[in-house]
Amino acid sequence: MKNLEKLSLLNISKSFFIKDKKIDVLNDVNLDVSPGEFVSIIGPSGCGKSTLLKLIIGLSSQTAGSILLGGHELQYSTHDIGIVFQEARLFPWLSVYKNITFGLENKQLSEDDKNDVQKHIKLVGLESFADAYPSQLSGGMQQRVSIARALISHPKVLLLDEPFGALDAITRIHMQQEITRIWQTEKSTILLVTHDIDEAIFLSDRVIVMSNRPATIKKIIPVELPRPRDRNGYDFLLLRK
Ligand code: ADP
Ligand code: MG
Repeated sequence: MKNLEKLSLLNISKSFFIKDKKIDVLNDVNLDVSPGEFVSIIGPSGCGKSTLLKLIIGLSSQTAGSILLGGHELQYSTHDIGIVFQEARLFPWLSVYKNITFGLENKQLSEDDKNDVQKHIKLVGLESFADAYPSQLSGGMQQRVSIARALISHPKVLLLDEPFGALDAITRIHMQQEITRIWQTEKSTILLVTHDIDEAIFLSDRVIVMSNRPATIKKIIPVELPRPRDRNGYDFLLLRK
């Protein structure tokens, strides 16, 4: 069983420098995410949502502030964090199986590891496609591979950056159900960036609304259960807070 820990973003700021120009993207973002919590982040396009996730997984570093997991500063190249991007970003020349195990490359896979890979392939419903190549899969199936790839190292925190944005409506609903199932069975802490408010409210415990750039957290909306079933319900929920 994974030992989930609190994720803390403390006074995170991020600026980019393009030639002599400084672009402030994030400004003093503070957020605590409880172990096992499902949090969604919404906000205007270009406000810095993807940047925030990249800081958490270490693809980029913050200009100021710290990111803690279980009270300890996050180390680069940690296996504690997994990420799924909007496009699956698979290696076209590798099979589904090889794409999923790519990050485990340096590791001699034990029988247990191999069983775990099979378990994850099954978890995302791709049992019959382990030897297929990405070009032989639909967009939704490719995205499932990238979810399995993110989960294979048993991350404590799963980051999802608009993972369903490029999918058709029906596939998106299937994938949303799948993520809920994975969240319940795999027990990860999840941060989901989405532009779909309905999705955010349906899936998560809290919705974080970010402001325009330089972005900070404008408000945090706890999602009350039972979840509202119609659009008017959502509007009411959003206006009320
Ligand atoms: P969002 O995901 O909310 O749409 P992003 O985090 O992708 O927004 O981008 C936030 C801002 O930071 C944008 O203005 C973008 O142009 C800028 N930005 C992102 N990455 C870089 C980078 N590597 N270099 C310079 N500017 C960047
Ligand atoms: Mg983005």
